[in-house]
Amino acid sequence: MDDNKILVINSGSSSIKFQVISLPSEEVLIKGLCDAIGQEHAEIRYETSGKKKKTDAKPNNHEEALKDVIEIIKQEDIVASLDELKGIGHRAVHGGEMFKEPSLITDKLIKKMEKLNHLAPLHNPPNVLGMKILSEVAPSIKQVAVFDTGFHSGMPKRAYLYGLPLGLYEEDGIRRYGFHGTSHKYIGLRVSKLMERPFEELRIISCHLGNGASITAIKNGKSIDTSMGLTPLEGLVMGTRCGDIDPAIPGFLQKEKGLSVEEIDNLLNKKSGLLGLSGISADMRMVKERALEGDEKAKTARDVYAYRVKKYIGAYIAAMGSVDAVAFTAGIGENEPLIREMILEGLEGLGIILDKDKNMKSQVKISSGDSKVRIFVIPTNEELMIARETMNIVE
Ligand code: ADP
Repeated sequence: MDDNKILVINSGSSSIKFQVISLPSEEVLIKGLCDAIGQEHAEIRYETSGKKKKTDAKPNNHEEALKDVIEIIKQEDIVASLDELKGIGHRAVHGGEMFKEPSLITDKLIKKMEKLNHLAPLHNPPNVLGMKILSEVAPSIKQVAVFDTGFHSGMPKRAYLYGLPLGLYEEDGIRRYGFHGTSHKYIGLRVSKLMERPFEELRIISCHLGNGASITAIKNGKSIDTSMGLTPLEGLVMGTRCGDIDPAIPGFLQKEKGLSVEEIDNLLNKKSGLLGLSGISADMRMVKERALEGDEKAKTARDVYAYRVKKYIGAYIAAMGSVDAVAFTAGIGENEPLIREMILEGLEGLGIILDKDKNMKSQVKISSGDSKVRIFVIPTNEELMIARETMNIVE
C-alpha cells in the first residue's frame, strides 16, 4: 500500500505541537513541540526514530516556529521536499455551527473561522494563524481543519439548547457546542474495534479526564450529548475549571464580593476545580499524594471530582437508554486507578462492575467477567485522528 505522509499541526497560543504520521501504517515518523514561543526560554524538542533531540532555535513567533518545523522535517529526511506530504491537518478548536465536518482550508474557511474567534478567544486565533502561515509556506499542499466541536455537531436540539430565551441561540449562537470531539471519536472507534462490534451499533460513554475534562454519550456512532458547553468551562470539575455551577454564582460574586467580569472569569477558569478545592494543586498527582497522607481538603477535592463524573455517567445512561461500554482516557483517565474506582463505585446495579486488580494495573479492559458493561482504559490519540480525517478529505 502507498505510504502517505500527513503533517499534523496543533497551533496554540504559545506552543505548536507537530507530528508526521504515515498512513495507513499509522507510524509516527516524527513528533515534536515548539514551546514558549516568543519567550526567552523558547525551544523546539522532537523525537524521531526513537531519538530525542533539541534544536538551538528560539522562535520569536509562530511564523519562525513553523518554518523551523519544516526545516526539521526536511533535515531529518522525513520528506525531501514538502511536496512529498500528502496533506497537512490542523487542529481547530471551534467550528461553531458552520463546520460540522473536517474541511479543506481555503481563504473562505479562514475568514469564517475568524468570525468564530469570540467563541474561543484563546484557541481559534492561534489555530488560524498556523493555517495562514502554512498556506503561504506550502501553497501546493492540501490542508484540512479538523474541529474539536465537529463530532458533537449532530447532537439533538434538546441536548444543545440551554433553557434561555431562544433568541440568544438564534441570534447569538449561544448553545452547547462541546469540545474534545476528536478525542471522543477516536475513543469510540477504539472501543468498537476492541469489542469487535460496529461503531454504529454501540452505546459508549467516553470520559476524557485530563487537565480539561469532558464526557460524551456516543450512541450509534454519534455524539448525542456532551458535558462541555458554549465554552470548555461547563461540565466536569477540572484541573482549574469549576465545571457546572449554579448560574447565579457569577452575579452573586459581582454583587456581594465586588468582583469584575474579568476577575470572575479568571476565578472560574483558573482558580477553581482541583486547585480551588484542594488549595494544593491543579495536578491530580499532587492532590493524590496529599490525600493519601490524610489531607482532608485533598480527599474532598478527589471526592467532588469523581462524584461529578459518576453523576454524568448516570445521566448519559438515561439519555441513551443503556450503555455497552465506558471508556477512560487522558492523563487522569489513563493513569489514576483510584479515581476510576471512585467514579464507578456503586454502579454495579447498572451492570458496571470493575475488576479491581485489572484496574490497578491500568489494563486495557478493566471490567470484571460478569460485568454487563465493558470498561476500558484507552490512551487517546488526537493527532492520529486528525491525520486520518485529513487523509479522508485530501483523497
Ligand atoms: P491536558 O488536558 O493538558 O492534555 P493531560 O491529559 O496530560 O492534560 O492530564 C493531566 C492530568 O493527568 C493531571 O491532573 C495529572 O496529574 C494527571 N496524571 C496522573 N498521572 C499521570 C501520568 N502518569 N502522566 C501524566 N498525567 C498524569
